[in-house]
Amino acid sequence: MATILVIEDEFPIRELICELLKIEDYDVIEAENGRQGLARAKEALPDLIICDVMMPDLDGYQVLTELQRQAETVTIPFIFLTAKGTTQDIRQGMKLGADDYLIKPFNSDDLLDAVATRLRKRQTASAAWQKARAETPQDLEILLGRSAEAQPQGRASELLSEADQHLLADLETALAENQLTLYYQPQFNLKTLKLTGCEALLRWFHPQRGAVSPGLFIPLAEKSDLILSLGEWVVEQALTQWRRWRDSGLGEVRIAVNLSARQLRQPQFIPWLLRALEAEAIPPQAVEVELTETTLVENVSQSSEQLQALKRRGIWIAIDDFGTGYSSLSYLQQFSFDVLKIDRCFVQNVAQNNTNMILTQAMIDMAHHLNIRVLAEGVETLEEFQFLKQGGCDELQGYLFSPALAPEVFTEKLQNGFSLPQGIV
Ligand code: C2E
Ligand code: CA
Ligand code: CA
Repeated sequence: MATILVIEDEFPIRELICELLKIEDYDVIEAENGRQGLARAKEALPDLIICDVMMPDLDGYQVLTELQRQAETVTIPFIFLTAKGTTQDIRQGMKLGADDYLIKPFNSDDLLDAVATRLRKRQTASAAWQKARAETPQDLEILLGRSAEAQPQGRASELLSEADQHLLADLETALAENQLTLYYQPQFNLKTLKLTGCEALLRWFHPQRGAVSPGLFIPLAEKSDLILSLGEWVVEQALTQWRRWRDSGLGEVRIAVNLSARQLRQPQFIPWLLRALEAEAIPPQAVEVELTETTLVENVSQSSEQLQALKRRGIWIAIDDFGTGYSSLSYLQQFSFDVLKIDRCFVQNVAQNNTNMILTQAMIDMAHHLNIRVLAEGVETLEEFQFLKQGGCDELQGYLFSPALAPEVFTEKLQNGFSLPQGIV
């Protein structure tokens, strides 16, 4: 039976959750604050963690951040409990790597459903992960293998800022010493099920820590100039990869790269990108740039000019994590995007969750009225897939089809075809 760790400082709520889980025969471990929860997570390595966001001392976000830093706890599914239930609040948790959320007050069905779904999804995800691992090239395996050793220990909240400094210094070394890799997650057309493109996602295999999540190190890099050289490296890698695929006759797969606000605001960025495309003889239509609302809102008029300049050259523009930031509909018109990416927090359980269902459908319809292509990200189940298909969504990306893959693996699939998940056709 699965072991579940419940981290909640309010005694009556904790008791209630634990009782409900025990009735369902789960093994339950309790923790009455974040610090205790972190210690129990590390010693028991539970199958699932349910954790309150609002706790004194170490809150739920800090617990999650710390769990994400450790190789052995990073994959444990994490459901957080929040009383606020605002999109920003939920987004913060999801961006840090949480898998699901429950808004207080919730009933026993909500709780048990979320738990059962997460445990079921974990099996799918870990099968996908195992498969990706099995296909991971040897040299990365060696790095991953070493990751189990030498985990830094310590009290999370005290170490956070110091730890961040260390991580940033390590990231700089990683960039200089080629510890970074760009992985590619395939994107498919929902009707034809054909591959339409891929999103380039950074992977960092740290020699001691193992895999470090970009959800953790990108925001950190954004606090320093490192994001500029990192961003440049990502674009260069992606373009080189694209050229290799084309040179080996594997076709012209559209490649999407994530841009950060600082990168876009550099006046020399667009000329640099255009020169790079020209140098490799890459058509601009092969490239899509993904920007978040938060990126754009920082300087609306400058961003708008920059995007127009990219668009005039034929580069595709996608709005990422749509609906999670300032989310104003006027941006959709102002920036004339080509693609709207529906964030994972809406796609999550879209076939069961009424709110997600309504919001997702509204986003699809609205985008289509504006002639914008819609891509749903984080699609994990057949039910989610079917809902999106019926709703008229154009493309999808998610673990149901494939996680992000090492370049060698992606290339192999380009040659031999991507296999579709069971039950799709
Ligand atoms: P994002 O751009 O929203 O990327 C999607 C994230 O969702 C990726 O996480 C991807 O691996 C994950 N994902 C895809 N399908 C599924 C699914 O079915 N289920 C679940 N649970 N997750 C799924 P990842 O790679 O950890 O990246 C996290 C974030 O880090 C990205 O969010 C993006 O904001 C940032 N990032 C990653 N690479 C880069 C980069 O090269 N440059 C910049 N500026 N940011 C990057
Ligand atoms: Ca993205
Ligand atoms: Ca996204």
